[in-house]
Amino acid sequence: MAVASDQTTSICNNCDREIPSLNLDLHVAHCSLKLEKCKICGLMVPKKHADKHFLKKHAPVTCSLCNETVEREELAVHKGENCPQRMLACEYCEFPLPAIDLIEHQEVCGNRTELCHLCSRYIMLRERSVHESRCNGSTNNITESSRNTSQAERDRGALRTQQHEGPKPPRVLTIAIIGIAVVLGALFYQRKA
Ligand SMILES: [Zn+2]
Ligand SMILES: [Zn+2]
Ligand SMILES: [Zn+2]
Ligand SMILES: [Zn+2]
Ligand SMILES: [Zn+2]
Repeated sequence: MAVASDQTTSICNNCDREIPSLNLDLHVAHCSLKLEKCKICGLMVPKKHADKHFLKKHAPVTCSLCNETVEREELAVHKGENCPQRMLACEYCEFPLPAIDLIEHQEVCGNRTELCHLCSRYIMLRERSVHESRCNGSTNNITESSRNTSQAERDRGALRTQQHEGPKPPRVLTIAIIGIAVVLGALFYQRKA
């Protein structure tokens, strides 16, 4: 706001606006009589409309979807963007669900697979858009390399387990232990009888 340099201004205590000093007295008289600062949003509101302003903007209202109390003014934004019960469409199946359930649903829904008609492979829905941008219809490029890595990983895994298991006890020993157990068991039963 440009203020002419030859005019000194003062702040009106009622509305916090800069008022030309010459007009201040008149302004304050008028301002304090007519206007009131809303304690909630700070807006200057005509006194006779203060109640209306409160009702229209700040009156607590209950969201019909989630029963949360919000300011009337925020209700539209709440229902459109914040309400946990607002309906949103699943990005994979387009089924409408409350926002609060959507993440969990998409977690499951995105794991479903669908046939890619270009490469004839089943692709997880969550990977479909990335896949479709890369898929060139050939079955042996990305796929092959990923299969190779997983094969290599499996081999490494097998090696690791073998190393960790250490030398296996000879089978004869195992049989001997089982034999002894059986004999002991039999003795125990005999003594009982
Ligand atoms: Zn004022
Ligand atoms: Zn207000
Ligand atoms: Zn709500
Ligand atoms: Zn879905
Ligand atoms: Zn494909």
